[in-house]
Amino acid sequence: MMDKKEISTYIKAEAERLGFDICGIAQAMPVNSETIRYCNDWLKEGNNGSMGYLERNCDKRYDPTLLVDGCRSIIVVAMNYTPAVQINGISDYAQGHDYHKAVKERLFRLLKIINDIIPCNGRAFCDSAPVLERYWAVQAGLGWIGKNRQLIIPGRGPQFFIGELLVDIELDYDRPFEGERCGECRRCLEQCPTAALSSHGFDARKCLSYLTIEHRGELPENIGKKMKNSFYGCDCCQKACPHSRFAVPNSIAELQPSPELMRMNDDDWKNLTEEQYKRLFAHSAVERCGYEQLRRNIKALESK
Ligand code: SF4
Ligand code: SF4
Repeated sequence: MMDKKEISTYIKAEAERLGFDICGIAQAMPVNSETIRYCNDWLKEGNNGSMGYLERNCDKRYDPTLLVDGCRSIIVVAMNYTPAVQINGISDYAQGHDYHKAVKERLFRLLKIINDIIPCNGRAFCDSAPVLERYWAVQAGLGWIGKNRQLIIPGRGPQFFIGELLVDIELDYDRPFEGERCGECRRCLEQCPTAALSSHGFDARKCLSYLTIEHRGELPENIGKKMKNSFYGCDCCQKACPHSRFAVPNSIAELQPSPELMRMNDDDWKNLTEEQYKRLFAHSAVERCGYEQLRRNIKALESK
């Protein structure tokens, strides 16, 4: 019979075997009052734009034990999505198949593996439930939240999907990551093309990721000039980060771009048909955007 330390070590080894780069474990409990205050103030100022879902289910967001009966532990995993090749126009995280599926499928497999050694109930999430993912990644010792609002993993960089397995068994907990390692650096703030990141914090309404993906209406006038070459998302604040120098290309099969996507050039994007869009993004997170909205973004970029 394994004790909780041995089980926790085994879970982390299995998480890595499944394709996650790093795994940590935090004790499930309500989030701290400082974080609740920060989130509430951020929402009160309207920084979430039209992402009304961020205002719902705050009880669960601030207390993950409400998401699973008897929840004791949060197993946090991170999966590198740094691509091997750059594809113009599409944010790095969306070049392969939908990451929600890639992460959650592996978390379900991890839950089954845990159940083979100790019976437990759990739920898997990846950007799919009211969970403060970066907060829990810090609590599980994975890294710190940078001024670019991303999780930064020391020696690995900022390009990671985060997933969580909430389980009703007690495990051996990692120490929360202490402090932050941004120091005096402000490169992400300086490189943000729209000043969405500033010394006042982060305003999603100005962010190109929000505008090109979440925002349904017209784009602000002349936004194309700020979009650089990207019509789906924006990676400027990640690429600017000096910790990106540690990034290595991911080797997850589902995250690799299709040959057709790799062949797309500027003219192909300008003339993108709906049929082609559906073929290119059938299993992709880009599907969330929709054909018309992607065309809107491409046109904005053309007019710069
Ligand atoms: S994603 Fe782009 S626009 Fe949004 S905060 Fe980062 S740099 Fe600024
Ligand atoms: S660019 Fe600099 S300030 Fe921004 S997250 Fe990276 S280290 Fe921190």
